[in-house]
Amino acid sequence: MSPMDALFAVQDEDTIVRQLRHRHANLPERRALVDAEAMVVATAAQVEEHKVSHLDLFRRQRRYEGEVAAVEDRLGELDTLLYGGSVTSPKEAVAIQTEISHLRERLDSLEGTVLEVMEELEPVERLIADLDVRGVEEASVVEHCRGELLAAEAVVDADVAQANERRSAAAEQVDHDVLARYDRAAAGLGASTVVHFAGSNCTGCPYSMPAVEADRVRALAEGTLAECNECGRLVVR
Ligand SMILES: [Zn+2]
Repeated sequence: MSPMDALFAVQDEDTIVRQLRHRHANLPERRALVDAEAMVVATAAQVEEHKVSHLDLFRRQRRYEGEVAAVEDRLGELDTLLYGGSVTSPKEAVAIQTEISHLRERLDSLEGTVLEVMEELEPVERLIADLDVRGVEEASVVEHCRGELLAAEAVVDADVAQANERRSAAAEQVDHDVLARYDRAAAGLGASTVVHFAGSNCTGCPYSMPAVEADRVRALAEGTLAECNECGRLVVR
């Protein structure tokens, strides 16, 4: 391989590596992983939201149950009082019976409320359980996607490594200064940094080379590296 052919080979490998890096960054497996992770986050947010309403309902249930217990205690006390033989006046007995009847109504209403809250809790609990199951499934999808991405990345990485090896082998055959010039120019010109001189023109140039410039390059020995004054590309005579 001539030094100039080697320089073109370096450029070809650089182009391949650039394309591979682009592929690496835009792997469909990466997109799939991002989407899968977003679903996990969304489900976790829903679980949190429903857990807040669950806690709220649970506290209400507890509070009403506490009230039920207090009313039951008081009813027990009144029963003991009424049938314990210590009440002697009928008036007092009537007052106690009135309180008992009020408390029983209160108890009915409280027990009804406890049931209502429990009925509200039930679907929330089911929803949380379903979301938990979904979260586990989604987490396993994330794991799967992560594995797929790693595998796809490994394929691209291996291709990059091979291209870099071929580039190193080609670069050994290119003069050190030429390679340095190429590297500097390639940062801006990319895949068409080194071009051929064809006819009387730089093939990388959108414009015609001025005649004087074209004559200068044409006069160079074949295989000589010139620089196009128009576009800055390295032109191989
Ligand atoms: Zn040019």
